Amino acid sequence: MQPYTDTADVAHFIGGKTERGTGDRTQAIFNPATGAAARRLVLGEVADVDAAVASAKAAFPNWRDTPPIRRARVMLRFLELMNRHADELAAIITAEHGKVFSDAQGEVARGIDVIEFACGIPQLLKGDYTEQVSTGMDNWTVRQPLGVVAGITPFNFPCMVPCWMFPVALAAGCTFILKPSERDPSASLFMARLLKEAGLPDGVFNVVQGDKVVVDALLAHRDVKAVSFVGSTPIANYIYETGAKHGKRVQALGGAKNHMVVMPDADLDKTVDALIGAGYGSAGERCMAISVAVLVGDVADKIVPRLAERARSLIVKNGMEADAEMGPIVTKQALERIEGYIASGVEEGAKLVVDGRSLKVPGHEDGFFTGGTLFDNVTPEMRIYREEIFGPVLACVRVKDFAEAVQLINDHEFGNGVACFTSDGHVAREFGRQIEVGMVGINVPIPVPMAWHGFGGWKRSLFGDMHAYGEEGVRFYTKQKSIMQRWPESTEKGAEFSMPVAK
Ligand code: NAD
Repeated sequence: MQPYTDTADVAHFIGGKTERGTGDRTQAIFNPATGAAARRLVLGEVADVDAAVASAKAAFPNWRDTPPIRRARVMLRFLELMNRHADELAAIITAEHGKVFSDAQGEVARGIDVIEFACGIPQLLKGDYTEQVSTGMDNWTVRQPLGVVAGITPFNFPCMVPCWMFPVALAAGCTFILKPSERDPSASLFMARLLKEAGLPDGVFNVVQGDKVVVDALLAHRDVKAVSFVGSTPIANYIYETGAKHGKRVQALGGAKNHMVVMPDADLDKTVDALIGAGYGSAGERCMAISVAVLVGDVADKIVPRLAERARSLIVKNGMEADAEMGPIVTKQALERIEGYIASGVEEGAKLVVDGRSLKVPGHEDGFFTGGTLFDNVTPEMRIYREEIFGPVLACVRVKDFAEAVQLINDHEFGNGVACFTSDGHVAREFGRQIEVGMVGINVPIPVPMAWHGFGGWKRSLFGDMHAYGEEGVRFYTKQKSIMQRWPESTEKGAEFSMPVAK
């Protein structure tokens, strides 16, 4: 696959057209592998949000009244186009995010899963019906779309995370405004064009690029009925509170600190592979990345040397190179934050087993690279344990037994994903039952649920009641209406003043 080399400015997509918008603020979009500014992003202003919402609002009545099966057919054509253009989309992601191309392909594939799920919307929107709730009376429930809804998404999955939201919302009959991350915004426009090509009417899907200005305008806009957010916990918390204050339905998925418990009876070869892939894949910039290995009993002395050897030999280079295992960090600032955490771990007394900071990638001296870092003897009060680093830094915590491992994890403020590697079915079962985390893997390091199961963490990893995509996603973008119906016979008596009861 050829690298993506477009240099045009990235702008909005409103009413079925690419729009430069009203503002003159722009910011550079970097290729993290080279460190060079590849193109510029036009940042949206309040007037651009107003234009996008007006366009989505005007498109809503027709789209809502389009039969679900016809909406599903648009999704089917979009699905076909996404499959056809998957590699181009993956190259765009690698060029702006930095993740290796095969990982970007995987991201696109997981986004496509949700589009496939959304194609089943007629079945998902079927209501419930009870005949004869009282003599001559029926009661049924339907789910109707909310109206204009918005999605605000993070940099780390510029295709997959928007796909957690808009295919379900659109299939359910809502119209949508996407505010992608300003770090890697091009995937959003690529998908907007494919939606148009699939036959989606203008105004049903809009993209407004930008920063807090756009987010705040969406949160305050009276015509935006719901907001889906995925990003860091402080911003998720802010979105939840501010959206709720403005009367909106909000689901706000936040940050994470995902643990993997390694029991002494775990298969060590498979566990090492799993920890290396889940800790350093996508340079640790996944909300389901494993950032803490909880090593139970004597397994630590066996596994740490093997992890060290593998972390040292990771192939870190431009993600478009076929043998790359890990690409660069998304921005220079993020790189500095990660390396700052490594320094703080050393200061706080953790044992730095592998230091990724010295890494140099020949020919890419200005790229935002760091190698894989491994700490041992990390303890719960250290910042590198408590806070989300969001980089290729794996922290090993040693505990004496299973109960201590479970307590450690349950005491953590985040509860996104977790894994347990063991060969004991009873331990696995108890782990699944006792652990206070939303997504659990047993011998599965990154248990991202399939499209029909829904995605969501617990504790400060999710603000709101409903998970993303799956049936919870359909519920989020629709509201229930109950209808009771009676067609009275001509012999009916007059008004009744007592509470109606079944007769
Ligand atoms: P971020 O919170 O910085 O940004 C997310 C979105 O919020 C972006 O669109 C950004 O423009 C916007 N934003 C940033 N600051 C804002 C502010 N002050 N006011 C209003 N809007 C603001 O997150 P990120 O760095 O893009 O992504 C990484 C984070 O996302 C990590 O914490 C990761 O764990 C989390 N994440 C969580 C999940 C999940 O499902 N729980 C999935 C992916 C990523």
